[in-house]
Amino acid sequence: MASLAKDFFIGLSNNDFLNQSAKKFGARFGAERFVAGTVFDAIIPTIRQLNQKQISCTMDHLGEFVTDRSEAEHAKEKIMDMLHQIHEENLDCHVSIKLTQLGLDIEESFCIQNVEQILEVADACDVFVNIDMEKYTHYDSTLKILKLLRKNYPNVGTVIQTYLYDAEKDLSDLEDVRLRIVKGAYKEDSSVAYGSKDEIDKNFLKIAKKRLLGSAFTSIATHDHHIINELKKFIAEHQISTDNFEFQMLYGFRIDMQHQLVKEGYRFCTYIPFGEDWFGYFMRRLAERPQNLNLLVKDAFYT
Ligand code: FAD
Repeated sequence: MASLAKDFFIGLSNNDFLNQSAKKFGARFGAERFVAGTVFDAIIPTIRQLNQKQISCTMDHLGEFVTDRSEAEHAKEKIMDMLHQIHEENLDCHVSIKLTQLGLDIEESFCIQNVEQILEVADACDVFVNIDMEKYTHYDSTLKILKLLRKNYPNVGTVIQTYLYDAEKDLSDLEDVRLRIVKGAYKEDSSVAYGSKDEIDKNFLKIAKKRLLGSAFTSIATHDHHIINELKKFIAEHQISTDNFEFQMLYGFRIDMQHQLVKEGYRFCTYIPFGEDWFGYFMRRLAERPQNLNLLVKDAFYT
């Protein structure tokens, strides 16, 4: 049943017609709970409030699977404007980008050029940029592009998805790269990814522990309290400095736990998605946890 719901919402997340139609309506149908707004200006007070509570943020100007050059260029401009604003407003905030929003499905060299321009501005503004990891079909090219970019721009990192069989092997090449560790949000074939929660969780713990013992900064991105509790024990046992890692969660999820982790002295970062292209992101959150739908229904009736 859970797997059917997952397939259903992942199917919707990939539906072009629904994605395009949703853009016209703005974040609706409860998506506002998980998508902070449509324009960056309007979200600055939210970032400030989080920063005041010692929570840093990573901003995702939503968009993916772009097939039109001008749309990719428009996304690039928006991201560069955001970087300037983060700098000018002195926000404790970095930026997450998706290569398919910046033209990876159009032409690799066009995408690289767009990201290089973003990284130039990010360097000047002293803001870190993280490349989100998307579907497995983009995995090899994302790692290849990351390595190429890092020759000139050390201020860029990426994400390792622990549902992938290759995750651990690929870590060895990324020892000095700032990484976010996640379970993985897309529907992947059993030829490339683990299917069971047990296997994915086990691999998450293995990879996160390996990273925590290394010297590069790691973001542990999960809402799973079992994983977080086990890692907290590991961190204490190995006396790992809290300067070397942070916990990350998505905007709107487990807010009490976000504040609790800060209270316990851990670094914490909230991933804030915003923009008009909210539909695919929102459907993936419903696929991960269909109970999120209950929260939305409750919101609709009781607020
Ligand atoms: P799950 O396996 O969803 O949940 C495990 C358990 O935790 C549940 O059984 C439940 O007991 C508890 N739990 C989870 N959520 C809640 C809740 N809301 N309330 C109460 N209990 C809860 N994926 C990518 O593929 N690429 C990316 O670049 C990427 N970036 C991400 C960035 C961040 C900051 C985060 C948090 C996730 C990102 N993801 C990304 C998504 C990620 O891969 C997972 O799909 C998503 O985080 C769900 O997995 P989970 O680790 O939170 O735990």
